Amino acid sequence: MRRTLVAGNWKMHKTPTEAKAWFQELLRRMPPVSAEPALMVPFTALAAAQEILAGTGVAYGAQDVSAHLEGAYTGEVSARMLEDLGCTYTIVGHSERRQYHGESDTLVAQKAKRLLEHSITPILCVGEPIAAREAGNAVAYTLSQLEGSLEGVEPGSPDRLVIAYEPVWAIGTGKTATPQDAEAMHGEIRSWLAGRYSPGFAEGVRVLYGGSVKPDNAAALFRQPNIDGGLVGGASLQLDDYLKLLEAAR
Ligand code: PGA
Repeated sequence: MRRTLVAGNWKMHKTPTEAKAWFQELLRRMPPVSAEPALMVPFTALAAAQEILAGTGVAYGAQDVSAHLEGAYTGEVSARMLEDLGCTYTIVGHSERRQYHGESDTLVAQKAKRLLEHSITPILCVGEPIAAREAGNAVAYTLSQLEGSLEGVEPGSPDRLVIAYEPVWAIGTGKTATPQDAEAMHGEIRSWLAGRYSPGFAEGVRVLYGGSVKPDNAAALFRQPNIDGGLVGGASLQLDDYLKLLEAAR
């Protein structure tokens, strides 16, 4: 009942021209799949996504959003602007933003609220650094991040929120959490969501795994009962790989 979501996170890759060609090729080659395809692209590629992907069943969105509504915030992009570009989803709280831009849980929660006000579903990222995992604190660390990042966030229905569990030590490193370790954490996240919202809400929310998801490990991850798809960086850049990920989600 939770449709598997295969969300690419392009990070800072591809020009608008490259993105446009990639989207066109995707539509040409896309087989019938049961999973939901989605691409989180640089702001500069969103107009191309709107032009090519709108109405095709391939969702798209941004990788960040401003916590402010509008005004004198040089360099920021608002949720209203993303709504106008037709974004279905947008990532908030990615570990690279937490790490390189000092984003706090409070800021991430504000960003999630801005998205919900503009009918965009946040893909909210949490996950522990290696030190927390080695100290045996991975669950406590991740749930505390989740609590802070969802402070005051009221999605209303479960399709208005996606959680991505991305252990920091697995991102871009080639080290993937085992399907069993990931499943255990996803179960903890879902139980926590049941307490924070309601059991019915938690049952409907998709919890994605992220961190070195590749065509050869995706099926084993996606098969776990509490893993509802992936947030995929490196392997979403090459179309061949991305198509294999969609197939793995059957
Ligand atoms: P990766 O990135 O698949 O390249 O590890 C995942 C992410 O950061 O979302």
